[in-house]
Amino acid sequence: MDPLTHYIAGYFLGRRSQLGDAGIRAVTLCALLPDIDMIGAVAGWDALCELHRTATHSLLGALLIAVLVTVGFAVCRDKAQALQLLPWCVLGTLSHLFLDLFSFKTSLLSIFGVAAAQVGPEYLAGIELFWPLSTARFSFVTAGLLSQEFMNIAMLVIFSLVIGGVVSEARRGTAPWHAWTVFFRESNGNGWL
Ligand SMILES: [Zn+2]
Repeated sequence: MDPLTHYIAGYFLGRRSQLGDAGIRAVTLCALLPDIDMIGAVAGWDALCELHRTATHSLLGALLIAVLVTVGFAVCRDKAQALQLLPWCVLGTLSHLFLDLFSFKTSLLSIFGVAAAQVGPEYLAGIELFWPLSTARFSFVTAGLLSQEFMNIAMLVIFSLVIGGVVSEARRGTAPWHAWTVFFRESNGNGWL
């Protein structure tokens, strides 16, 4: 799934944590961080395909990322609120896994006919949900829950909802990126939450 969709999912979860801008920042970070494995791209396309959607997209990886971000929050912000934040961080990372389960051989690029996205790299077979116990890749298609055609439609519907969410927030004067723009403006990037 695309970064904007992951971010917006994290944003709405973070808002519900009722921990203010810092909570929103932490949960949006959790919703995006599983894709940190795309750093494999520095070692080339093959390395990216092999690494992407493996450890950081597993249930264990999701839990570890959520705990790390919560610890960062406790150290940089507020120890007392960290326990309240942890379940929202877990939901943030799990939202990433859930959304990527829609991506079996499907991406917005491939739907719109971008040839490079239709080659079918290995990571489009799904996420390694149960790593390190199993390296099997899962998606809603491989689980037999959705057809490929329904998956394409679902992805377009989800992306439309995301755009709708961004527009409705902007119309209310609460841009989803507000928590981060405040952070960078006030702290000049010092600290990480
Ligand atoms: Zn991902």
